[in-house]
Amino acid sequence: MSTLVVNATVVTATTALQSDILIEEGCIAAIGKNINRTGIPAEQIIDADGCYVMPGGIDVHTHCNLSVGSEQVSDGFYHASVAAAYGGTTSIVEHPGFGPDGCTLHFQTDLYRKQAATEMVIDYGFHGVIQHVDDKVLSSMKGMVADGIPTFKVYLTYSGRLDDGEIIRVLKANSRAGGITAFHAENHAIISSLSKTLSRTARVSDPAIHPLSRPDYCEAEAIHRIIALARAAGDVPIYIVHLSTASGLEVVRAARKGGFPVYVETCPQYLVLTESCYRDSADLEGLQYIMAPPLRSQRDCDALWDGLADGSIDVVATDHCSFSFEQKCRQGRDNVFAAPGGIPGIETRGPVLFSEGVLKRRIGLNRFVQLIATNPARIMGLTAKGDLAVGADADLLILDPEEEKVLTTETLHQQVDYTPFAGMRVTGWPRTVLLRGKVIIHRGVLTASAGCGKYISRSISSPHKKTP
Ligand SMILES: [Zn+2]
Repeated sequence: MSTLVVNATVVTATTALQSDILIEEGCIAAIGKNINRTGIPAEQIIDADGCYVMPGGIDVHTHCNLSVGSEQVSDGFYHASVAAAYGGTTSIVEHPGFGPDGCTLHFQTDLYRKQAATEMVIDYGFHGVIQHVDDKVLSSMKGMVADGIPTFKVYLTYSGRLDDGEIIRVLKANSRAGGITAFHAENHAIISSLSKTLSRTARVSDPAIHPLSRPDYCEAEAIHRIIALARAAGDVPIYIVHLSTASGLEVVRAARKGGFPVYVETCPQYLVLTESCYRDSADLEGLQYIMAPPLRSQRDCDALWDGLADGSIDVVATDHCSFSFEQKCRQGRDNVFAAPGGIPGIETRGPVLFSEGVLKRRIGLNRFVQLIATNPARIMGLTAKGDLAVGADADLLILDPEEEKVLTTETLHQQVDYTPFAGMRVTGWPRTVLLRGKVIIHRGVLTASAGCGKYISRSISSPHKKTP
């Protein structure tokens, strides 16, 4: 079956051209002007007049299926993937939560894969999670990489955190296996110490103490240390998730200047929200913004925008994690440190970045495509995705740059009782979204069904490849 997209302004990581796109068997078969329509039924011709046609969004940092203790996120794979599709995202790479103590390296990814198979409406892959280190875990990395999971996440805080010696062992083993290690960079001792002090000296029911327990130097120190450990492990490439501070960015810039291979991701919340959300929200509403790292100052937001524009930051992902406001209140009403962390954002990533970034002239159109699709695909090894090129998967985001929406819980499709971006006016929304050539969203209507998303076996051919 053939599909033809006509009257499009086709935007990739490097170009923006008036073109048609011919799709055959789920892949892009041709890109060019005035492609012959003979034999293509009218209903298979998509008019993209007035829209940008871009590669479908790729969100490489989600927690769609997370449970922590007795709390489970409120959406799950089906609803999270539907929301993602509405926002123009056609693939995710999910970070599984920690498994039972001492479990094998593939325990969590096997479990998640089974659950995702019948639920996802977009394509998906998984990162491995390393929650303890022993010979068995290290020797399993090779098999995981061969199975299409070439990225592993390490935490420097929380119960599954690793110490410096363990991190060096992981970095060496992962490098030998051909993978990249991703890091949640926060100094655990600083957080513990400050939280303890704040619990004694401040009102622990006040969300405003949350950012005080995880200051910017807590992130910068952790990034600095991770880079030093990666150098000691043999200059192996690393990936920093959810960068939130100007000081962390400075550490990254210095390392990159010296030629060290560090990839960096940030998220929309660190670009458009500030720590004033904790102070200025009424009653318990500040609990909505409990996440780690926390929201920062306007100066940090500005620095991160600069980092996006000058190429110091490679990826915008979400860290989507839909614990509900109700759950946050239940657990954190008397003690904010007990509230489940994380915010929903899987649906709003592309539109918020387009509206606040492209339309406000902080980043260009090509840069936008690089940040939401091309770079995450290249770094994380989604080889058939992230670009509009002949032979690539026909995952298309057809974006109407004039459609406007005010973000509220009701105007979004995320299955959660709040949005941290409530009240924001966002211009630029997907009109049509295609997954491997099939329309999954058109003018606000979902046309995909549970289970139509496919598992993506990823492979990183050259971990040192430079991103645009
Ligand atoms: Zn995360």
